[in-house]
Amino acid sequence: MEINNILSWTAQKPLIIAGPCSAETEEQLLNTCQAIVKQTGTNILRAGIWKPRTRPNQFEGVGEVGLQWFSKVRKELKTPIATEVANAQQVELALKYGVDVLWIGARSTVNPFTVQEIADALKGVDIPVIIKNPVNPDLALWQGAIERINKAGIKQIAALHRGFSTFEKTDYRNPPMWQIALELKTAMPDLPLFCDPSHITGKRDMILKVAQKAMDLNYDGLMIETHIEPDKAWSDASQQVTPIRLGEILKELVIREKTSDDPDFRDHLVELRQRIDTIDREIVEHLAARMEVVRKLGDYKKDKNVAMFQVDRLLEILQSRSDWAEKMNMNKNFVGLLYKQIHEESIRIQTAR
Ligand code: PEP
Ligand code: MN
Repeated sequence: MEINNILSWTAQKPLIIAGPCSAETEEQLLNTCQAIVKQTGTNILRAGIWKPRTRPNQFEGVGEVGLQWFSKVRKELKTPIATEVANAQQVELALKYGVDVLWIGARSTVNPFTVQEIADALKGVDIPVIIKNPVNPDLALWQGAIERINKAGIKQIAALHRGFSTFEKTDYRNPPMWQIALELKTAMPDLPLFCDPSHITGKRDMILKVAQKAMDLNYDGLMIETHIEPDKAWSDASQQVTPIRLGEILKELVIREKTSDDPDFRDHLVELRQRIDTIDREIVEHLAARMEVVRKLGDYKKDKNVAMFQVDRLLEILQSRSDWAEKMNMNKNFVGLLYKQIHEESIRIQTAR
């Protein structure tokens, strides 16, 4: 899959996309974007023109007139603009008004029919497309949407991590489940990966922390919802920041380098990685030895006509190993999960014999 680098738009990393959740009025859009451009190092301005709202009778976006305002803003501020498209007609209108970057929202990425409709509308067009993760934590659906857009001939693609919906009560509006985004990056290493801390947190005072985590994980860009008067916003008021606050957030962020110029860095990194390699080798050797004993145990149980799976034994293993982990200052849930998997494999080995 060929993905041109939309990062080449700017030498600076992270790429910053900022602007209001929704275009509301010409004045709100212009004032917000002017302040953003003046006060921050934002590369691309964003605004939602058509808003996918969870329930009806909420503000659903201003529609085409917003594109007229936005294209004026683009001309006046000489800054590229981005908006969300969710069907072929919206793609057509966005292109007509000279929108520079399109994004596909989380509620569209979940639906292959929608993504295909957008992909078909984009055939023969050369425009960067940012693909948000689907609402539900499904990596294949995210990859599938990227592939559909890429197959339509779009080469400039980035993925945007905006968190996932969940039944659980958490501090986040959409818990990040970082592992899913990192798995995407592992499967598609050339794909630029951006983070949207606004939709992940839903709260403006948590945005810096999540944006920093994205920088620690080597993300390539950020999309941050910014509004001239956040509390008066017609959508997503609690997560939007002022342009001044956006400037502060971007200044406070510690940008990690991919590597370091320190002459000792490489040596030290190599040494630490070698230590990890040695320990991992030992872990695998120990697992092999454990499974060898498991095989003997399985044969013995069979010999004595005893069932392979004993729930008491599993519970005892999970409890004791988690307790050991806690005493050794480790995350007991992690070790519990690890032992669930180890035990599953033990039972598979015993019952397969
Ligand atoms: C948005 O960016 O305003 C938006 C609707 O986001 P998401 O698709 O992530 O919910
Ligand atoms: Mn929003």
